[in-house]
Amino acid sequence: MNRWGVDLGGTKIEGVILDDALRPILRHRIATGQERGYGHILMQIGSLVKTMAEKSGLELPEKIGIGSPGRTDGREGIVSNSNTVCLNGMPLLRDLREVLGMEVTIENDANCFVLAESILGAGRDEMTPGGTTAFGIILGTGVGGGIVCDGRLIRGAHGIAGEWGHNPLLGEYGSCYCGRRGCVETVISGPALERHYTAISGKLASLKQIASLVNRDEFARKTIDRLVTSFGKALAAVINILDPDLVIIGGGVGNIRHLYTPEARQAIASQVFNRSFDIPLLPPLLGDSAGVFGAALLAGPPPNER
Ligand SMILES: [Zn+2]
Repeated sequence: MNRWGVDLGGTKIEGVILDDALRPILRHRIATGQERGYGHILMQIGSLVKTMAEKSGLELPEKIGIGSPGRTDGREGIVSNSNTVCLNGMPLLRDLREVLGMEVTIENDANCFVLAESILGAGRDEMTPGGTTAFGIILGTGVGGGIVCDGRLIRGAHGIAGEWGHNPLLGEYGSCYCGRRGCVETVISGPALERHYTAISGKLASLKQIASLVNRDEFARKTIDRLVTSFGKALAAVINILDPDLVIIGGGVGNIRHLYTPEARQAIASQVFNRSFDIPLLPPLLGDSAGVFGAALLAGPPPNER
């Protein structure tokens, strides 16, 4: 079966059709135009899907997967916490079903990321007989995560499975937008680390610059040490619950090479309830394509059950 997916981004909307072997047979993108409002975004998605059918010569599918920033809740799929703000409060799932005239599944970008990377990207060669559990992380402006077990997304009872960014970090009390204090996100997100560097050094720098200054600037070194230590503590808490076979680290902060050093592994291992910490920590392989591929994977059964 073909799988159709659409990744709804702040500036562009991209669609893909994957064939039975999960290879892309068509990709197409258009502008989101979010400044023209919610109705316009619905129209853009409708027109993108129509163009995909025309260009591919395929009939419209019965079901499509949509990747969208933020959460969608309930039977109507009401959006919240989306940085495409005109979506917030809107029944996106209900409206897309109506506009597209087909079954629609919506997942957030972290869930699409882990689905795509675990099946088609970084986790592709890590699949073990008898099932593989992958924990996928988006570590960037925010801290998100998702879980894929045997090729299937674990959503949880309320769609928050894998949201480790709002677990508490021992000894941290900074306030978080979510209303709580000391969340992982208030310590290891990119903006949080940049604020920490400014607070201790009095200087402004991007996280990329900070990481490049580690050997010359003690404040940079302290900031990266804070990232590595807190990342270890936060990830160990997840590992003790989930015991995944692999972890995939995406997002801008995920590019920081210090997360892949023996020191970083030790920071995790020292908090894990096991004698050794031996699972792979993998950088993602699909780049910008993970979102749209993950959305398409939502539109069919887990690949090993085809
Ligand atoms: Zn929080």
